Amino acid sequence: MSKIDLKKAHFSTLCVHGSGGVDEATGALGIPIYQSSTFAFKSAKHGADIFSGVQQGYVYTRIGNPTQEAFEKEMAFLEAGEAALAFGSGMAAISTVVLACCKAGDNFISNNTLYGGTHSLFSETLPNYNIKVKEVDSTDLQNVIDAIDEKTRLIYIETPANPTLAITDIAECSKIAKKNQIPLVIDNTFATPYFQRPLKLGADIVIHSATKYIGGHGDTVAGVVIGKKDFIDKLRSNFLRDLGGIISPLNAWLLVRGLKTLAVRMERHQLNALRIAKFLQFHPKISKVWYPGLTTHPQHETAKKQMLGYGGMVSFEVKGGRKAGEKLMNNVKIFTLAVSLGDVDSLIEHPASMTHSTYNKEELKSAGISEGLVRVSIGIEDPKDLIDDLSQSLHKINLH
Ligand SMILES: *Cc1c(COP(=O)(O)O)cnc(C)c1O
Repeated sequence: MSKIDLKKAHFSTLCVHGSGGVDEATGALGIPIYQSSTFAFKSAKHGADIFSGVQQGYVYTRIGNPTQEAFEKEMAFLEAGEAALAFGSGMAAISTVVLACCKAGDNFISNNTLYGGTHSLFSETLPNYNIKVKEVDSTDLQNVIDAIDEKTRLIYIETPANPTLAITDIAECSKIAKKNQIPLVIDNTFATPYFQRPLKLGADIVIHSATKYIGGHGDTVAGVVIGKKDFIDKLRSNFLRDLGGIISPLNAWLLVRGLKTLAVRMERHQLNALRIAKFLQFHPKISKVWYPGLTTHPQHETAKKQMLGYGGMVSFEVKGGRKAGEKLMNNVKIFTLAVSLGDVDSLIEHPASMTHSTYNKEELKSAGISEGLVRVSIGIEDPKDLIDDLSQSLHKINLH
């Protein structure tokens, strides 16, 4: 057990120590990978008591596992929440939360610029079960207010949004949610708890694709939900048990290891991203740059108010549209042409044809995703090398 008072510890200390400390039985400093599907009972009565809830204990890894728990405990600390629940992917976390809150005949509201998988779950899969989404531009909260009706069960907001980095005012949105007694869910994947703690701003539930910055090394797909203990208990004992989208012990362990460096990684991602955003902003072949840390970002003031930093994601438009963007992506050497984000490696991709190809033309337009939009996830390499790489590749674009 840790001797540290984790309630008083600062963020970077929690990243390193929040998962529990030295294992009492063995002295192991790192949490072991409990790679076991099932757990032996001491007697028939012991087994029956655990099932009926009279005694605490492990039963089966779909219901709970010590390595999963170490990760969940740490995420709850980092997001300033009561409890957390890990999932096998970000999409498993998102779909399970929506299904826990909405029944057939209900609807929910989301912002209209979402991760492509989330958008297709909301607009294609869930309507088959008579759960309807109303995707609105939540940078103007009047649109959220106007969309609420007596069947609205959830407000789901991605901020900063993927890929345009549009910002929704979490505190103001939470006032609307509270007034209507509807839970507010924030997808905090882009910011991470290092830069944004939605629960402190009034949100009820936080979701991450832990595949991204939480893991940080591009070696794991996972998700996590943080919220009130009652809600997380219900999510675990009813919905995760039945829907089954659990994380493996190995992946939970990789996330605990990833979290140890979250604070230092995020500092470096942000430092590099700001330098690259500024470089792109003044580049003659770039027409537009989206980064919440730039004063030219349309919601910069909201970002400044609710975020402690602006993260490592930058989107931009190359003059010459799709063709010029393709040339840029094909000629970079340090950046890898790949989807996903939040890795220590820098990545570059084209949302309209890749991560957001689930959007039709009209939806792309209303989400602000143009054919020429390029998204970069800035890694922790030397910023000068990254700028030189973009520079040499942009140089190859002939605009005439
Ligand atoms: C990647 C991503 C998801 C989906 O997560 P997976 O781990 O890929 O299932 C959800 N939201 C955002 C913002 C993402 O970037």
